[in-house]
Amino acid sequence: LGGSISRALQQMSNATIIDEKVLNDCLNEITRALLQADVQFKLVRDMQTNIKKIVNLDDLAAGHNKRKIIQQAIFNELCKILDPGKLAFTLKKGKPSVVMFVGLQGSGKTTRCTKYAYYHQKKGWKPALVCADTFRAGAFDQLKQNATKAKIPFYGRKSSSKCVEVVVIPKSDPVRIAVEGVERFKKENCDLIIVDTSGRHKQEAALFEEMRQVSEATKPDLVIFVMDSSIGQAAFDQAQAFKQSVAVGAVIVTKMDGHAKGGGALSAVAATKSPVIFIGTGEHMDEFEVFDVKPFVSRLLGMGDWSGFMDKIHEVVPMDQQPELLQKLSEGTFTLRIMYEQFQNILKMGPIGQVFSMLPGFSQELMPQGREKESQAKIKRYMTMMDSMTNEELDSSNPKLMNESRIMRIARGCGRPVRDVVDMLEEYKRLAKVWGKMKGLKIPKKGEMSAL
Ligand code: GDP
Ligand code: MG
Repeated sequence: LGGSISRALQQMSNATIIDEKVLNDCLNEITRALLQADVQFKLVRDMQTNIKKIVNLDDLAAGHNKRKIIQQAIFNELCKILDPGKLAFTLKKGKPSVVMFVGLQGSGKTTRCTKYAYYHQKKGWKPALVCADTFRAGAFDQLKQNATKAKIPFYGRKSSSKCVEVVVIPKSDPVRIAVEGVERFKKENCDLIIVDTSGRHKQEAALFEEMRQVSEATKPDLVIFVMDSSIGQAAFDQAQAFKQSVAVGAVIVTKMDGHAKGGGALSAVAATKSPVIFIGTGEHMDEFEVFDVKPFVSRLLGMGDWSGFMDKIHEVVPMDQQPELLQKLSEGTFTLRIMYEQFQNILKMGPIGQVFSMLPGFSQELMPQGREKESQAKIKRYMTMMDSMTNEELDSSNPKLMNESRIMRIARGCGRPVRDVVDMLEEYKRLAKVWGKMKGLKIPKKGEMSAL
């Protein structure tokens, strides 16, 4: 998406005369790209109309930065769609709140609700999980397994497969289990009681009826609609169908790791008038990120992940180091010393698992998930090797400087095999590539949309 949009903008920028036709061509190109990213047709059309209203042809002709004007307009419009103008219901600690998860089967409810509980537990809540899914065989076992791992109390009943065959489970069953669970955890002073419900592929009428009954009986303070982002253009209708049956107050979009292009999230927000609060980025319970509109949109527009990059730098790099670092990066300099300082920052932040993927390029390869101890050891090892480097080597941005004799000297100095030093330098080169993308961009002030 990002590619086609920047291409369209580039073409328009290159045109000597910007008239209505050039602008229209550009907007059509962008429209096509957004549709391909699964943004709902009607949203795209409305956006196109709005952009035309906002973008003034005279401004474009007057030699202002055309690309910037249009890109800013698209960016703002997409942010507007994703921001329904209200926050998800804010739960109050210490007072029992009930949160109900709804969504089709396979959308990722059970995977996410444990993580949602865990996320709040770490922030001082006392969560509990209730499995009101009596439809899918094994639903309770799945929740139980996740909850046990995260040490979160849970409630539910195993539906033995034999039983399902012979006895038709009465409709009231999930409702009864949900109510029992909620009552029990209220008595136990839990302040965040999460109800996981069933979701079916078919039988939608039955599903919605069951959902309504569970909702009426447990009176949730918040209903979270969980949606698989890979459903593409179907997102709008699906989200709307759920909204019409229960009072959806927030959205979680899952499977953002696959081929999904993210447009579905816009549709879900537009359909439910509720904010996205988290996104799921993998099968593992931990692959779960707090949702933030601006970085998401800049990623959707392929703005080099800029805003996300900046946010992460603001998060990890101490304030007093930021201006200098940004200055260097904008000059295209990523030295070994910068890498060293970022290693220091990361190690200072505590267990590596928690700062996983905090800085661009520092994830996957360097710090694979689930191997935190190893990653930490590796970073420390790299730093020891860098301690044997000269200032010239640390501050150079010339990759050719690190010749064989220097590498041998460093290896001797830190008492490690040459292979390890080479390995560390490879890592440096990889990071330099990622961070080198910042080159030439103007240094933004904090909070400013940097990609524009
Ligand atoms: P539920 O039926 O709504 O409770 O969905 P589950 O939580 O059981 O998830 C259904 C399947 O999707 C499981 O195999 C999960 O591992 C997988 N899954 C859930 N979330 C994600 C995600 O964000 N990315 C990917 N790739 N798979 C996911
Ligand atoms: Mg489930």
